[in-house]
Amino acid sequence: MKLDILTIPNPILRQKSLPVKQVDSGVVRLLDDMLETMYQANGVGLAAPQVGILSRIVVIDIQAREDEKQPLFFVNPEIIAHSEEQCDGSEGCLSIPNQFAHVKRFNSVTIRFLDRQGKSQEMTADGFLAVAIQHELDHLDGVLFIDHLSPLKRKMLLKRLEKQRKRG
Ligand code: ZN
Repeated sequence: MKLDILTIPNPILRQKSLPVKQVDSGVVRLLDDMLETMYQANGVGLAAPQVGILSRIVVIDIQAREDEKQPLFFVNPEIIAHSEEQCDGSEGCLSIPNQFAHVKRFNSVTIRFLDRQGKSQEMTADGFLAVAIQHELDHLDGVLFIDHLSPLKRKMLLKRLEKQRKRG
């Protein structure tokens, strides 16, 4: 089932999400609905607060091609290690439509999480996947990519968004 994606300045996007107690059938259904919603919106990641649910749940798929889909499901994900090196790539967000900016992130991160079966897993990611993970995990703490920008850049981005919305 496709869910509605909240956009700024919806206050839910600024709240901290709670840990999931158990990966039960409701959580699995939410993971699947979030994935469908993300694919339909042509996104590469989606966090539960973006669909109005304050639970620590994230889906990611950075494969652009239809025939190479590789969905990743993260419940209660935590970064347990990261590289010292940082990278600087362009990011966007389904909750901040059509706006992009460069954000500094760690090159590589190791996360611990529960998978779709409720099993504890660890995974190390680098490059674009590492960036997507850091972006989505931020959402679970009410943090958006624009928070990493300088005040001036953030202001300019929000102005562009406002103009775009006025044009419809
Ligand atoms: Zn986002």
